[in-house]
Amino acid sequence: MIARATVQKVIDTADVMDVVGSFINLKKRGANFLGLCPFHNEKTPSFTVSPAKGIYKCFGCGKAGNAVTFIQDHEKLSFPEAIKWLAKRYQIEVEEKEQSPEEKEQQKEEESIRIINEYAENYFHNILLNDVEGKNIGLSYFKERGFTEKTITTFKLGYSPELRTSFSFEAVDKGYKKELLIKSGLVGEYNGSLADKYSGRVIFPIHNQSGKTIGFGARILKSNSKAPKYINTPENVVYNKSKTLYGIYQAKRTITNKDECFLVEGYTDVISLHQGGVENVVASSGTSLTDGQLYLLKRYTQNLTILYDGDAAGIKAALRGMDMALEIGLNVRLVLLPENHDPDSFIQELGADAFGQYVEENKKDFILFKLEASLQDAKNDSVKKSKLVNEIAETISKINKVEDFTKQQDYIRRCSELLEVEEAGLVAIINKKIRERFGKQRAKDARDNEAQLEAEALEAEAAQYATQDTASLITEKDYMQERALVRVLLQFGNRDFDENISVADFIFNEVSPEDFNNKKWEQIFSLYHGMYKESLQFPELKEFTYHPDSSFSQAVIEAIEVKYEKSSNWFDKHQIEVPSDEETFRGQAEQNVDYFYIRKIKTMFKELHAELGKFKGIESENETEVNILLKSILEIKEQEKNILLKWKIPSIG
Ligand code: ZN
Repeated sequence: MIARATVQKVIDTADVMDVVGSFINLKKRGANFLGLCPFHNEKTPSFTVSPAKGIYKCFGCGKAGNAVTFIQDHEKLSFPEAIKWLAKRYQIEVEEKEQSPEEKEQQKEEESIRIINEYAENYFHNILLNDVEGKNIGLSYFKERGFTEKTITTFKLGYSPELRTSFSFEAVDKGYKKELLIKSGLVGEYNGSLADKYSGRVIFPIHNQSGKTIGFGARILKSNSKAPKYINTPENVVYNKSKTLYGIYQAKRTITNKDECFLVEGYTDVISLHQGGVENVVASSGTSLTDGQLYLLKRYTQNLTILYDGDAAGIKAALRGMDMALEIGLNVRLVLLPENHDPDSFIQELGADAFGQYVEENKKDFILFKLEASLQDAKNDSVKKSKLVNEIAETISKINKVEDFTKQQDYIRRCSELLEVEEAGLVAIINKKIRERFGKQRAKDARDNEAQLEAEALEAEAAQYATQDTASLITEKDYMQERALVRVLLQFGNRDFDENISVADFIFNEVSPEDFNNKKWEQIFSLYHGMYKESLQFPELKEFTYHPDSSFSQAVIEAIEVKYEKSSNWFDKHQIEVPSDEETFRGQAEQNVDYFYIRKIKTMFKELHAELGKFKGIESENETEVNILLKSILEIKEQEKNILLKWKIPSIG
């Protein structure tokens, strides 16, 4: 592991202009620099670098980041690799972190198993190509499937001989330790002696994204055997199934170039498509996609297209886990292959061009597909249909990114058409889902802090909200306003608000992390809040733009807004006077804080009204309480009016 101090040194030294500038030509545009984006094809530059903020953003494809992420993306490196790359460039010595004895032990084991895997991969591959049994059984099987020699080499396919001591005997002879061979999953111990686990099977090595062999899939060839068709490496220190996608190493470059990834079910589907010229394809080596696999995929593209061969179980498996894909902002589409075809047979019969054409013509949006498929099922059954409305609302409610706001609106419109329900009704259910989740999350956080009572109160509050289907809780406006407050804090928190307090103090006096509705902005706000309260010093912007959690730093970059200036004389030409942030940041801080305040008032207002409702018809018996409530309502109404007047806003909905 690289020492934290080295990472810090690299981050402090690496200059985004210098790093990006060594790969692309940059021209000055206003406060920023502009060039042709290296991550998508373009003729007019929209790739913007802000030296002041130390970040870049492409206004064409949306890629954004810092000097380290640029090297990661451009050179396809992991975070530690990118740090080493930059360290070399800036002649910074890389210190490795002092490890604990357990960490050392674990790393040693990891390295040993990697070496064993590599040895085994070569052993099986060599048997397949050169051994008589390997050629007669393994190689002829692959040839029958139509795999070329090039393909067999690319995927390092292999064969494990029938004789159950073939591999283990040779491995022990080569000096590999018994315990490690067992831990690798390649070998088992039976009555004190070692035996191969994959004997008589063809071997599909599984590589991680950097090409290291981390495990194996093994397919039996005998048709009369009761043994399972496929067996896989069990989880161990190097093989984590839920973070692995079969074929990712061979596919990653094409995935980035095409900005799309196909997902299929099996190893042979991946290999066939690859051989047929469709190289951006992976398999999940399991039924449904896990979060870890989705995040891995997202490093290369946001567009996921699932190919499957229409049996009901396959569809169900494909749809499971897809709500998570929406949550992290992937665009998921599905292609149903023609009857009696799987990806393997389809590409072999039609070739890449026809395949590509079919896929383009038959791509269906995941949500609409799910809806159509379920609607057929629910025809005229009102119970099933209302369940379906709920499910679809749940799915749509998972889209929580503002960039996807129009997409969400579009879904609402199209789904309400298909379901034959009022748009407003669907919106109400979606908002209810968001509120429930939001309430539950907050209740859960509170519980984690052992504030049981508070949690119960929040749950009650959430339940109360859930019964009201009024305005949406997480609206686009909320999102923008919360983002705006985060932006002012990050960029101007260290400036004077007036002669007594800083902008950060001013904001923290009025707003706390719990006041946020959007988790993303709340996290950034909380981190700043925590760092500032702890040290009483203003945190550096780099602490945020270089945050190790990439979704966090991406959110930061979204918040701090790099302006896209098409040409240097744009403002002159259009004669538009835009007041600079320098002139307006105090006003912005105040206005954003007031937005939060107004929101609080609205909640209070609702609560007071609900209270008041309890006395309906029995007002005269409870005159004092009713009067107090009315007075409070009038007071907060007055406060709201004052704020709105201050900003000359006629009214808020
Ligand atoms: Zn771009």
